[in-house]
Amino acid sequence: MKRFEVAIIGGGIAGLVASIELAQAGKSVVLFEKSSQLGGRAISVKKNGAVFDLGSHAIIKGGALHDIFQDLGIRMEGGSPGTNVSFLWNNKVTHMYHFLLSRKLRWSGKMEFMKFLKR
Ligand SMILES: Cc1cc2nc3c(=O)[nH]c(=O)nc-3n(C[C@H](O)[C@H](O)[C@H](O)COP(=O)(O)OP(=O)(O)OC[C@H]3O[C@@H](n4cnc5c(N)ncnc54)[C@H](O)[C@@H]3O)c2cc1C
Repeated sequence: MKRFEVAIIGGGIAGLVASIELAQAGKSVVLFEKSSQLGGRAISVKKNGAVFDLGSHAIIKGGALHDIFQDLGIRMEGGSPGTNVSFLWNNKVTHMYHFLLSRKLRWSGKMEFMKFLKR
């Protein structure tokens, strides 16, 4: 039976990145994934021609995952979100402007939110 130095359980982003980094460091690695597809909560599924993200849908520029993907040479598509953003808030579709003008967030929270959108 083949022997490995490291066994990784789970082929989500964490397991995949750990496997690659360990292999690049010269370790022999085996990865076990219980489902039929790698990616864990970061996978997308196609249904009736539409693509649905089961989990992750955004990678924050300058965040840890962004840096790791860049180091691994993974090309990322897409761009930064515009300011024409709506989201569900208390079961209502709310435009970002209404949200920012409302009293639902304190000023510090509004500034934090704007900083997040700018990234
Ligand atoms: C709705 C939602 C939205 C999200 N949006 C974002 C986003 O926009 N941006 C962002 O950066 N992050 C987002 N996240 C978080 C991100 O998806 C997760 O942090 C990340 O995918 C977790 O990766 P992981 O490898 O740690 O775990 P997982 O993705 O959970 O991977 C674990 C893997 O281990 C496998 N496994 C479990 N038990 C075993 C076993 N006994 N044997 C073998 N395999 C096993 C599982 O099948 C799975 O593939 C979101 C998450 C959710 C749920």
